[in-house]
Amino acid sequence: MKIGFIGLGNMGAPMAANLAAAGHDVAGFDVAGTTAAGTTQVTSAAEAARGADIVITMLPNGAILRSVAADVLSAMTKGATLIDCSTVDVDSARAVAADADALGLLFVDAPVSGGIGGAAAGTLTFMAGGSDQAFQAAEPLFEIMGQKAVHCGDAGAGQAAKICNNMILGVTMIATCEAFALADKLGLDRQKMFDVVSTSSGYSWTMNAYCPAPGVGPQSPSDNDYKPGFASELMVKDLGLSQQAADAVDADTPMGAAALALYKTFVEDEDGLGKDFSAMLPRFEKRSRG
Ligand code: NAD
Repeated sequence: MKIGFIGLGNMGAPMAANLAAAGHDVAGFDVAGTTAAGTTQVTSAAEAARGADIVITMLPNGAILRSVAADVLSAMTKGATLIDCSTVDVDSARAVAADADALGLLFVDAPVSGGIGGAAAGTLTFMAGGSDQAFQAAEPLFEIMGQKAVHCGDAGAGQAAKICNNMILGVTMIATCEAFALADKLGLDRQKMFDVVSTSSGYSWTMNAYCPAPGVGPQSPSDNDYKPGFASELMVKDLGLSQQAADAVDADTPMGAAALALYKTFVEDEDGLGKDFSAMLPRFEKRSRG
């Protein structure tokens, strides 16, 4: 297939390289001039899109997606498919979907989970929104770049699934970290805490698979001085998107709001910038009540 890939950053570059390694003809573009192994570098987003069967975007946010889509959609061949893998607000995903539809193009919002490691290994999970036809067009590429793709519903449903998942993730990580910090002060050994909670009703992905306590549980960023992994500032972004969505549909999300406030403080006023989101544990460890 002829593929245009726009946004060759930490995630996009390895994803594009995996598509090229699988034998696809990939034209890549990034404003920063970054490249991906096995792809042909072109000089504009429209050039990457022209004549492509599928165009993939992996960009920082919804505003950038909208501006790139404005250039790309008019350059695409009727019947081709735009897959946006970025994490963006639901409204931007739906707006681009409507513009694509008006031009006779297919669109799938397909944000990912799995991080940079998953992008490099081709083991991402895709959460997709769009018509059955659009999902089917995208599926063979999801299989190369990832290990699982869930068709969540119409356009925007992939972004909805992503921000709901990450709201749970942010809230659960904070709960796990504050519980460890309390356990420390109660004199409970961290390994014992893990042994009990990981097999009791407090278990979670953050405890069992990504334990924020160094030396406890499987290997995780806590064992590597909290180098990301998943950076705290990306958690601020995703929690911000979930609060934006909650505002738009009048959903009551007090825990999501509290998690956003804590991660924002951590990144903006404390030492959280550039640290994995599990570094909330050393933050709580240093603090006292009130
Ligand atoms: P990144 O900043 O490394 O990459 C984004 C790339 O887009 C950059 O290289 C930038 O130069 C390029 N870009 C910006 N504006 C552009 C334009 N107008 N035209 C072409 N290229 C442009 O970010 P990333 O870590 O690769 O993340 C990409 C997306 O994936 C984000 O939406 C992020 O929320 C999401 N995501 C990231 C992770 C992660 O662990 N990094 C995990 C899941 C989802």
